[in-house]
Amino acid sequence: MSKSAVFQDPMFHDEAKAREALEAVRWPDGPVCPHCGSSDPEKLAKLEGQSHRPGLYYCNDCKGQFTVTVGTVFERSKVPLTKWWMAAHMMNSNKNGVSAHEIHRNIGVTYKTAWFMMHRLREAMTDAKPGPMGTLGGAVQSDETYYLNTSKRAKSYKKGLSQKAAIVALVDENTKTVRTFHIDKTVTSAKLEKVLFTNVDRKATLVTDESKLYQTLGKEFGDHQKLNHSALEYVSPTGHTTNNVENFFGVFKRGMRGTYTFCGEQHLKRYLKEFEFRYNNRSGLGVTDGERTAKALKGIEGKRLTYRPTH
Ligand SMILES: [Zn+2]
Repeated sequence: MSKSAVFQDPMFHDEAKAREALEAVRWPDGPVCPHCGSSDPEKLAKLEGQSHRPGLYYCNDCKGQFTVTVGTVFERSKVPLTKWWMAAHMMNSNKNGVSAHEIHRNIGVTYKTAWFMMHRLREAMTDAKPGPMGTLGGAVQSDETYYLNTSKRAKSYKKGLSQKAAIVALVDENTKTVRTFHIDKTVTSAKLEKVLFTNVDRKATLVTDESKLYQTLGKEFGDHQKLNHSALEYVSPTGHTTNNVENFFGVFKRGMRGTYTFCGEQHLKRYLKEFEFRYNNRSGLGVTDGERTAKALKGIEGKRLTYRPTH
């Protein structure tokens, strides 16, 4: 379906429809009071009079009022929900992502607002409490790459890996999902250990290249399959590869180069989470553009931005 055909859905034009769509995503089993957690339909009433702002509910348990955006990244936003849906849709219907300029032009908000909306949506797309990877004795691919300042023509180019941002990514071979980490300065065994021990089941098979970083660390896992890439070994005797994690790095780097003109290191983690979300909800896993967008907005709850907006 083309982008313009998708935008014909009423939720992109009608604020009431946009709110109903968000309510359906956030409250699939009916409204929940964000103040006291009550979900008793007998106690929650929709306030529909002229004097009330649309979408307002009253909770008889705690005597509080709320709408679907209370306690979410949209709470204090002046941007209509129709535009949040459009921005979320645009970010989730192309695997390379979309620039703030395109969102600014397409949905009619300023560039700064588009930029800020995108950071809020990235926050919503971040899995706050991910579970362990490689459970049930599965395999997890681990690899690292360096990003930013990698062009020798760039004015700020300095020699050495310490001038680049280090990224570690893990791919669970059973679920085919990725998890990314922005590592401060260079990747060391100690930093890798922290990432692996807190994210990967110790019984899992760890699949890596021949990097020395994993030599001792690999022994802490159920099995360690090392691929000797310098000897052109890309599949281990047990059939394991690091192809998935390398593919993810490829998608990320191509997308960043093509879509985003600049990404300061302080925001790198957010961009990583955006690409991670799309990868983990990709069409190859049976997720449609519409489902991906709805899932992105489902994550708006309880998220707090950790940096100050510039406006
Ligand atoms: Zn309540």
